[in-house]
Amino acid sequence: MSTEAALRDRCRALLQSGEVALVVGYRAARTGGNCTPAFVTGPDQAELLVLDKTCHHNLAAYLPGLRHKGRVAVVSTGPTSRSIVNLLKENQFDRKDLHIIGVPDPSSAPASNVRNAVLFDEFIGDKADEPAPAPDQDLAAFEAKTPAERWEILFADLSNCIRCYACRQVCPNCYCPTCFVDASRPQRVGRTPDRSDTIMFHVMRAMHMAGRCVECGACARACPMGIDLMVINRKVAAIVRDRFGHVSGMSLDDPLPLTTFTPEDGQEFIE
Ligand code: SF4
Ligand code: SF4
Repeated sequence: MSTEAALRDRCRALLQSGEVALVVGYRAARTGGNCTPAFVTGPDQAELLVLDKTCHHNLAAYLPGLRHKGRVAVVSTGPTSRSIVNLLKENQFDRKDLHIIGVPDPSSAPASNVRNAVLFDEFIGDKADEPAPAPDQDLAAFEAKTPAERWEILFADLSNCIRCYACRQVCPNCYCPTCFVDASRPQRVGRTPDRSDTIMFHVMRAMHMAGRCVECGACARACPMGIDLMVINRKVAAIVRDRFGHVSGMSLDDPLPLTTFTPEDGQEFIE
């Protein structure tokens, strides 16, 4: 039996028995192309669920909006499960209300280098081979440039931003009821696509992702302007890895580096 068929059977059974009220998974897009999220509430809809190489979305992004809606099953690849770990650590979902169905990442072009779910209640299918950790070539090329050259590249790329916030909407880390870009009292950043406002938005966004981004690539895929947000995300993740030895979303036990203080934290920037 294929992993997809086994997944459908299992989700049908979970819904039939009432163990969960909803399954968040993937379904074929009505217009072709990449799979879209599926919200399956009845056993007869389990046939809709698919698992193929176009399943890219990080489904954890929907969980904060599903709190208190009953027990939820979520189909979790490596990146989705890592984001779930972070959401649980940030108290955005109650673990007892979650049934995590781990699956191997079927995506043809996984952005994250963790393919299998890291946290699950059950795993369906054969685990995929995890790629050996390798230096990120794109990031290495970026880091080889001078600070002035790096700034020029980022500035040119980010200047194309139209402030549509698609990158924010697809990110599991962005669940605040009022985002800092929408707050008006006080207004932290202007809302226009003016370059200085736009750069400020991206700087603040990057800071908010530090230690939390799982490098799923959803934001970059959603960007209608083709902005390579992963250069920023990977750079920030590398800094957190180097300074705190922390890889985001790998364990429920690791403290979140930016909300935890230890006297050993590097403090040379204020010396
Ligand atoms: S910032 Fe982008 S790559 Fe990082 S978790 Fe959010 S959507 Fe994924
Ligand atoms: S999705 Fe792209 S264009 Fe839209 S706000 Fe994000 S970076 Fe800017």
